Amino acid sequence: MSLYKHILFATDFTEHSNEVATKAKQLATINNAELSIVHIVDYIPITDAAYGPIIPYDGDLIEQLMSSAKERLAKLANDLGVAKKNQWLETGSPKLELVRIAKENKVDLIVVGSHGRHGLALLLGSTANGVLHHAKCDVLAVRLKND
Ligand code: AMP
Repeated sequence: MSLYKHILFATDFTEHSNEVATKAKQLATINNAELSIVHIVDYIPITDAAYGPIIPYDGDLIEQLMSSAKERLAKLANDLGVAKKNQWLETGSPKLELVRIAKENKVDLIVVGSHGRHGLALLLGSTANGVLHHAKCDVLAVRLKND
């Protein structure tokens, strides 16, 4: 029996993301589910209410980030056997974009890595935390090693 039909693997391209990728792939195989992969280029200009943008919008920089992210995403997708139509690359806040993409594509499981943060870092909120609190579907937080 399949528990999930569409699994979304969120990658930040860190060295740990391979562990998360392996689990997402295995879950997709076991459930005979569609596997999608997503990366969010985390670029949010920092703006001060009184003085305007502190780090101004830089179109060239974003283009460079997007182009390098696109290559990395395509390579990872190729390694995992993920089709082009299941590869997502967006800019913005990772947690908000991940939740939006999941909702718009009828994803029923989001797979993220978790650093098991505590104290102030937990108060500030990690991506895994944000997704867990805002997603309408199941979320698997894969505990990353060396934490
Ligand atoms: P963090 O809370 O930033 O340490 O990230 C925890 C997990 O959230 C990562 O292991 C990824 O699964 C996911 N994640 C973080 N940043 C991004 C990003 N920019 N794009 C896609 N997924 C991300």
